[in-house]
Amino acid sequence: MKLLDGKATAAQIQAELAAAVQARKQEGKKIPHLAAILVGNDGGSVSYVTSKVKACEAIGFESTLIRYDETVPEDILLEKVQSLNVDRSIDGFIVQLPLPKHIDELKITQAIDPKKDVDGFHPRNLGNMILNLPGFLPATPAGIMELMRRNNIETEGKNCVILGRSNIVGTPLSIMLARNTNPGNCTVTLAHSKTKNIKALCREADILIAAIGRPNFVTADMVKEGAVIIDVGTTRVDDATRERGWRLVGDVKFDEVAPKTSFISPVPGGVGPMTIASLMMNTLKAMELKAK
Ligand code: NAP
Repeated sequence: MKLLDGKATAAQIQAELAAAVQARKQEGKKIPHLAAILVGNDGGSVSYVTSKVKACEAIGFESTLIRYDETVPEDILLEKVQSLNVDRSIDGFIVQLPLPKHIDELKITQAIDPKKDVDGFHPRNLGNMILNLPGFLPATPAGIMELMRRNNIETEGKNCVILGRSNIVGTPLSIMLARNTNPGNCTVTLAHSKTKNIKALCREADILIAAIGRPNFVTADMVKEGAVIIDVGTTRVDDATRERGWRLVGDVKFDEVAPKTSFISPVPGGVGPMTIASLMMNTLKAMELKAK
């Protein structure tokens, strides 16, 4: 078993990005600038956005955090999106999801200029992904692809099962892994809560990717000997032994599954850091595209 160490791989990417920033500084060129809009005080969202801002600082990107109260009206948020769209100093920006119920997430996502949509959630970027045209790939699936690429995971001709069909992880990842690319060329099955015989399906997988948010759902009896396992799930579970009172638990029962696998990503330290790294790569790309 080999650990798919997302923390180490992301650190390598961040070092490459930091070197690129340094080179741009020396040439007197613009430094990438990422903005993030955060609405409310949800613990998960606050910590994701904080990690993204910290990553910008570590690499040398500029960052701007814009915070709104939980009750912010939709039109105020839309106005902010429009102003970021035309702000020349901002190369890319994200609106951290989920948003409060009174705000239409799709409306907000569609209002973002696709050229600044570094989360890759805009329909135009998703459409470009399907057609294999240039654009921004959604950060988490792109991070998973990069994790596979940098760890030389063979994907061609493999049977890949993805658990979870969300618009931000499972569905785009199923498209990316089925494309004629490397990584890619997998035969993909996209499973969800209505899928029958899920255990038997998982046992057929050469590559099993779990993105459902059900702690310890994937057990050893669901895994083929030698499979590659990627755990996207992150659920906060109460833990009185931790100072903060909780810990992050993945969708895979790591201890019993790991010995059967060829590669496995841990939680934390697997897909999470890769999501941030791919957001940073998208931001640099947004700035370079704008410069062209
Ligand atoms: P989501 O919107 O929470 O949807 C969950 C998906 O899992 C749905 O497609 C659902 O099926 C499916 N599902 C739920 N229970 C299932 C079951 N028992 N069997 C089979 N499928 C089941 O998905 P998400 O936003 O992609 O999040 C999934 C997990 O990934 C969460 O833990 C989230 O925190 C984590 N995540 C991590 C990162 C990261 O960077 N590490 C990024 C994004 C998400 P239906 O469609 O039928 O309801």
